[in-house]
Amino acid sequence: MKFYQAIDDASAGYTGDLDYAVNKWSLPGAQPCPTCRRGGGTTGLHYPCVDLSGLPPNELEKLTAPLPVPQDELTRLTELVRPFAPSWALLKPGAAFGPLTGKASGRFGQLCLQPPWTLLLRREALEALQGAGVRGLQGCPIHVSFRGKNAPELLELQLELHGRIHPDCLPQDQQPRCPTCGNDMLKLPNSIVLEAASLPEHVDVFRMADAWTVVLVTERFVDAVAGLGLDGVTFRELETR
Ligand SMILES: [Zn+2]
Repeated sequence: MKFYQAIDDASAGYTGDLDYAVNKWSLPGAQPCPTCRRGGGTTGLHYPCVDLSGLPPNELEKLTAPLPVPQDELTRLTELVRPFAPSWALLKPGAAFGPLTGKASGRFGQLCLQPPWTLLLRREALEALQGAGVRGLQGCPIHVSFRGKNAPELLELQLELHGRIHPDCLPQDQQPRCPTCGNDMLKLPNSIVLEAASLPEHVDVFRMADAWTVVLVTERFVDAVAGLGLDGVTFRELETR
């Protein structure tokens, strides 16, 4: 099986803009770590199908304020959220939950990667791909108000985390994991080589476990998109080893 990185297809001419939409809730960022000085929130860990609305309003308020909080408060909020999240979910500072909420404008293709780590599909595209046997398509409705007529019905995919970088293609000066906060400070190489043993056999679209802003798909996904004539996203084959 071949694997590909999904990339927004700028040549398709779509003007769709979701820059003013964010998932409804998120874990706050972390205050800087005393050892590695890194803090803040991560980008790309989205769990749009996770519904936190059952939490008390005073806690939900803390999950909509992205300002960094001390580590013990971050741990407390993470444990508050964990029962609502899938068992495989990685819950890091800045992880986002619930429907995309906000405003959008412009024209959207059948598929849309915008920002480049958020994969959205029109409902008809999602159903067509499911009909073609593509696996791992958990679509979550979004709460976005579209400017103009003919608003598309877009769904954000909730993506599992799979796929590691092959150790051979990591930079020579790779730093070890921080002993205090566990941050691995992974520097993404220019050309990603995937470690074959880390790739899933049960889903055709997923988020890279070593790089959460990278959306990966299988050859089956790419073939189905081409066969159905779906547009908006293009694919770059990655080496696996
Ligand atoms: Zn650290």
